[in-house]
Amino acid sequence: MSADNAPTRGRGVSVATRDIRLAFGNNQVLRGVDLDVPAGSVACVIGPSGSGKSTLLRTVNRLIEPDSGDVLLDGRSVLKENPDRLRQRVGMVFQHFNLFPHKTVRANITLGLTRLRGLSKDEAAARALRELDRVGLAHKADVRPSHLSGGQQQRVAIARALAMDPEVMLFDESTSALDPELVKGVLGTMADLAADGMTMLVVTHEMGFARSVSQQVLFMDRGSVVEAGSPERIFEAPESGRLQRFLSQVL
Ligand code: ADP
Ligand code: MG
Repeated sequence: MSADNAPTRGRGVSVATRDIRLAFGNNQVLRGVDLDVPAGSVACVIGPSGSGKSTLLRTVNRLIEPDSGDVLLDGRSVLKENPDRLRQRVGMVFQHFNLFPHKTVRANITLGLTRLRGLSKDEAAARALRELDRVGLAHKADVRPSHLSGGQQQRVAIARALAMDPEVMLFDESTSALDPELVKGVLGTMADLAADGMTMLVVTHEMGFARSVSQQVLFMDRGSVVEAGSPERIFEAPESGRLQRFLSQVL
């Protein structure tokens, strides 16, 4: 899917959390979460609705500050880093694409590059085209998002995050809002990115993706990682009753 001359990315760094705890009022949403995603690998987070998956992801790029615990990028704490800079290092793609409807696809991507990264208009436009080419949408640069399918819009959102040259990518149910026939294209783009060496932390209900692309699957329930292991281990030999029940409902 990516152009022959596109440089391989290969610069994902490790990401880890240490004993992350967070409550919303009386609701203890994260109860001491540890995770380790080695550089260039993919970890999928699965688990029932309300188990804290989105909240965990948001603590990694500090959209939410945990009550305690630490987040490490490339072995270094990010809790003292400037949040704007951190969100360039850690790209995030949500369930809904959040593209600006009145701007072209290209302008959706160049905006952050000129405002946050200080690129010239020409440099930003060239980089936007490069990233659109990677996700197979260079020919859509001049149209508005409403002219694209949901899957294409989501691939633009991925290209927009990648244009910032992130070291880690977070995906929060990025295919859950899509019509079934559009899911495959987005998962394919994500698999390409993984093959390019990006470090990815992916909340997903797509068990096929978790099985075939990730090196590690974490099962969360009620604010804790209940089980973690290779996809084979998690899917073929779940140990806890909670994971067994969850899998019997989703597989
Ligand atoms: P998941 O992504 O696994 O479905 P979430 O992380 O979205 O779970 O939510 C975990 C819990 O935290 C839920 O009980 C949810 O209601 C609560 N929660 C999430 N965000 C907020 C918030 N901004 N304010 C209060 N409660 C929240
Ligand atoms: Mg969620």
